[in-house]
Amino acid sequence: MNPFQYQRASAPEEAIHAISARDAKFLGGGTNLIDLMKYNVEHPSTLVDINHLDLIQVTTTPGGGAMIGALVRNSDLANHEMIRHNYPLLSQGLLSGASPQLRNMATTGGNLLQRTRCYYFMDTAFPACNKRNPGSGCAALQGFNRIHAILGTSSGDNSEETACIATNPSDMNVAMAALDATVHVQGPKGKRSIRFADFHRLPGKTPQIDTNLKPDELITAVELPAPKFAKNSWYLKVRDRRSYAFALVSVAAGLEMNGNTIKSAGLALGGVAHKPWRSLEAEKSLSGATAGPEAFRKAADLAVAGAKPYEHNAFKIELAKQSIVRALTLAAHGPEGVQA
Ligand code: SF4
Repeated sequence: MNPFQYQRASAPEEAIHAISARDAKFLGGGTNLIDLMKYNVEHPSTLVDINHLDLIQVTTTPGGGAMIGALVRNSDLANHEMIRHNYPLLSQGLLSGASPQLRNMATTGGNLLQRTRCYYFMDTAFPACNKRNPGSGCAALQGFNRIHAILGTSSGDNSEETACIATNPSDMNVAMAALDATVHVQGPKGKRSIRFADFHRLPGKTPQIDTNLKPDELITAVELPAPKFAKNSWYLKVRDRRSYAFALVSVAAGLEMNGNTIKSAGLALGGVAHKPWRSLEAEKSLSGATAGPEAFRKAADLAVAGAKPYEHNAFKIELAKQSIVRALTLAAHGPEGVQA
């Protein structure tokens, strides 16, 4: 690990001022950043400790939604009574991620900023990684790309793309995408809000940039709209082992039901793209449909339309479709309504 300065901030303004130092990073739970520093992937000059900022509240908004402070720990959020009751999809997604020890440390804001677990990004013995070292190439394209993306990838085939087929590893992010969250941030020029769909980026020409957060901006909160999917939602995570593993494919499915008719839907995928992959086309096709296999299969086809497999991850296309159908079925009918 490289030497770094440590600075503790006691107010957002102080933190934002401190982060203006070259190569400074905010330190929240540190569950991802400290690993990356040990692996020599990240080498910040300064860590600005924000753990003493008052960003630890979960409150109900005047519109009946939820405001979640950026420093609320993942375990506290998952087990918060109002979140469990109104947003079980988020609670389920959070509890699918990492381990209890990590969830006790990881923060809401930090989870938004998790970096990819692409093997070639995490291991500096591989020189070619456009995300870690822009312009160096992408070892995953011709390498072992079983965990990599099938949607929204950049293969580097034209001047609009720089190769990167990494995935976003977060479970929380997938649930928040389906719930249509908004991210609140504060920077030297004041506060602004970013729609969740616009927060994370596709690789495009700049795979080294994961989000549209500016380097000198602090995430202060995540807002959820009034709950629509409290009664009918499911987070399904498919992975190589049952705990402490990242998703090969995950699905956050929320349905607003009127009898057996779907009034509206929220649908997002994890493990398949550089950002949580929300499918508005699939959501639209579900609205007004009768809940059942026909509507769910149509939504699955739409959500995965345009998928592009690489040598080792073609299985993800069918896995994603089947996972969508299963998650929607579980959301609509509960575990007892699903045949094994
Ligand atoms: Fe790096 Fe992205 Fe390629 Fe992985 S997929 S090696 S993160 S450029």
